[in-house]
Amino acid sequence: MNTKKSEEFYERALNVIPGGVSSPVRAFRSVGGTPIFMKSGEGCRITDEDDNTYLDFCNSWGPLISGHRHPDIVKAIKSQADLALTFGTPCANEVLLAEYMIEKLKKSVPSIEKIRFVNSGTEAVMSALRLARGFTGKNKIIKFDGCYHGHSDGLLVKAGSGLATFGTPDSAGVPASYSQETIVIPLADKAAVEKIFSEAGNDIAAVIIEGIPANNGLLIQSREYLQFLRDITKKYKALLIFDEVISGFRVGFGGAAAHYGIIPDLVTYGKIIGGGMPVGAFAGRSEIFSQLAPDGPVYQAGTLSGNPVAMAAGLAQLKLLDEGLYKRTSDLAEKIVSAVNENDLSWKAVHVESIFWLYKGENPPARADQIDREAMKEYAHLHHHCLERGYYMAPSGYEVGFVSSPMTERDIDGYTECLLSFFKKK
Ligand code: PMP
Repeated sequence: MNTKKSEEFYERALNVIPGGVSSPVRAFRSVGGTPIFMKSGEGCRITDEDDNTYLDFCNSWGPLISGHRHPDIVKAIKSQADLALTFGTPCANEVLLAEYMIEKLKKSVPSIEKIRFVNSGTEAVMSALRLARGFTGKNKIIKFDGCYHGHSDGLLVKAGSGLATFGTPDSAGVPASYSQETIVIPLADKAAVEKIFSEAGNDIAAVIIEGIPANNGLLIQSREYLQFLRDITKKYKALLIFDEVISGFRVGFGGAAAHYGIIPDLVTYGKIIGGGMPVGAFAGRSEIFSQLAPDGPVYQAGTLSGNPVAMAAGLAQLKLLDEGLYKRTSDLAEKIVSAVNENDLSWKAVHVESIFWLYKGENPPARADQIDREAMKEYAHLHHHCLERGYYMAPSGYEVGFVSSPMTERDIDGYTECLLSFFKKK
């Protein structure tokens, strides 16, 4: 495989961009080798600077459920670009997108009455937590080991070895005092949650969880556990926040909330609602949002928030979604999972709708500490095996894969043959 131009760009990038990348996981540090510099995308395929083409399972880490450059999205962007790129004033597109989202969520997530748009998932979560604290008048947040909620200071924390720890920063540059308000506990562990609430229940503003945790593999939680979180937060007057930056509009219109039939107080969105443009949002009950500026004392703002081009792209994307698309993409993910699991391999696969993950072991992990860390070395070989055969998977075994709607059964058959040829050869 010729990757000469990617290598050249990477060399140049290293001179001017830290680590040569604008976001760390792009650096191929976990799989080794040179990051591939992409040039164009069409449907479910991407082409790199050396003109190698790949079936794309990264899909920009989830937003591109309809693949690259869907004509409706491109048209919406071009039409808006002909009018204006940004105003810094209100514009119709943000109203249209908010109305559309609320309409689509009305039945399954009726708590979504108000939406504030931002520019990324990180911003959405950071702002939702500030709002939760402002609304409840409490400071502490419970998050789960294995759930990623963006890179804001208070959330870059991981659990220690004990059952529950007060957060210690997971990144240099984050003062321990910032993360002291974040309590990190393992997923799928009711006792850990009960213990924290019994000790500090009156100080807890919110519990935040990815209803379908998809940032440390795919750590599927039971409905009963999520219902338990709903009940205990209600009991202690803390808010339940579902971070649906990945799952929102990906596992169905109503995201994880509708998938499990749980109604959170606040929901954060990103990725799909921007149709490939930088968009995030946080949403929830009007009563909570009455505390947000300009109506209330919780400050939050953004020069480019509700950007007209991004809003137009998001609306065009959401209008492409229907039950047929969700079923088709879920069936394709199921095809990957059954092809892997039908064989007696040391690796298995799991999926929730169009999100899938390959893991080593017998049973799908539900907690971060159940993931086989050693298997990541094997994943590095798998990644390169697939890359060389035209399949672009995320450059880390902790990342999930995303099916997009332009993929066909034939594409998936080719991919599963590629996977099996790797696993069987070992
Ligand atoms: N929350 C979740 C669940 C995410 O998956 C991500 C990003 N993968 C974020 C928040 C942060 O989003 P962004 O990268 O757009 O800041």
